[in-house]
Amino acid sequence: METLKQPLTLSEIPAAVNDALGSVPFVDVHTHTFDAAFGSLLLWGLDELLTYHYLAAELFRARRDLSYDAYWAMSKTAQADLIWQELFIQRSPLSEACRGVLTVLSKLGLDSNTADLAPLRAWFKTQTPQGYINTVLKLAGVRKLYMTNDPLDPLERPVWEKGFDRDPRFEGVLRLDSALMNWPAPVPGLKALGYDVEEALSGRTLAEIRRYLNDWCARIRARYTAISLPPTFRYPSQDSAVTLLLAKCVFPVCRERGIPSAMMIGVKKLVNPHLRLAGDSVGKSEIETVEKIALDFPDVRFWITMLARENMHELCIAARKFGNVIPFGCWWFLNNPSLIEEITAMRLETLGLSFVPQHSDARVLDQLIYKWDHSRRVIGPVLARKYADLAATGWQVTGAAIRRDVEALLGREVL
Ligand SMILES: [Zn+2]
Repeated sequence: METLKQPLTLSEIPAAVNDALGSVPFVDVHTHTFDAAFGSLLLWGLDELLTYHYLAAELFRARRDLSYDAYWAMSKTAQADLIWQELFIQRSPLSEACRGVLTVLSKLGLDSNTADLAPLRAWFKTQTPQGYINTVLKLAGVRKLYMTNDPLDPLERPVWEKGFDRDPRFEGVLRLDSALMNWPAPVPGLKALGYDVEEALSGRTLAEIRRYLNDWCARIRARYTAISLPPTFRYPSQDSAVTLLLAKCVFPVCRERGIPSAMMIGVKKLVNPHLRLAGDSVGKSEIETVEKIALDFPDVRFWITMLARENMHELCIAARKFGNVIPFGCWWFLNNPSLIEEITAMRLETLGLSFVPQHSDARVLDQLIYKWDHSRRVIGPVLARKYADLAATGWQVTGAAIRRDVEALLGREVL
């Protein structure tokens, strides 16, 4: 350990960064995976990987003659076979989503040079959910991950209501979209859970929504609340129900409970509804909205990520102005190596270590393996260049300092 305190030479820096990135266990602050207790909600395995919506979207580009209805009528196995054939055999799988599948197979020790998926499927059949979670987390170098939990989901809620032994590696996060977006659409669902809400956003209704938030934050032990918002989201607003619900319900509840409010801003829902989950797109959002929220709620911590690359620089600057704004992750369409590189360098230069560089957003458990492998490969050289710049000034870079910094960036729990 003493060597960690020795100043590193320029040529030793990249290996020291890689060593820290490879040995500090990470906390993945945003995923869509589940504790094994949720049964079929935990997606894993080859067919889930291959039919992931990123790849479905790419299939329809490769096969313009394929009708949406024909694809969605196919079994999951047949969909996976078709995607394998079209995107991995007929063409080189150059896209990030395709490469991700290959990284997963490679890290699992499986050979992807096969036209027939049967041997790969046979291997996955030998795995159990619990055993596979252990394997994936080990290969991903992740010690803890945050789920995205929705009490209004009819499959998910009964599991919480019945109760189960929590896997301490899976933390709860209260997802707000289904309870707050498109008001008054959530009214029947909230009423069915026993909350006395009505379409008009009266004082009584707002109080009942706060009760819903408090009840469910407590039940799932929410580490934060999360909502995804369209590019048109504005604060303040005279006529937006979701703006009112955030300001009057979510932010006060987060303040009382001492948890962050995460907002993921910039998703345009279902621009192509035929693509289902793959049908969402991106739009540029308004940074002034983030600034005004941060100013009006100084005692709430806001975890912010934005979907448009064009918003990323101004988000960094907003975070410089407001200590309660914490940029996190490279979300969805930004989770590509070229963009992770650009965004990570920009954040380090504007914010030092006060941001969360990445989350996986994994919807299929196995994706943790490739998302983190690919991110390490990009974040490593960016960090190494920054430490080399420091060393060039005469400042002494040590392995201990690098390790401390990597822990601060990716190894910590949400505060
Ligand atoms: Zn997500």
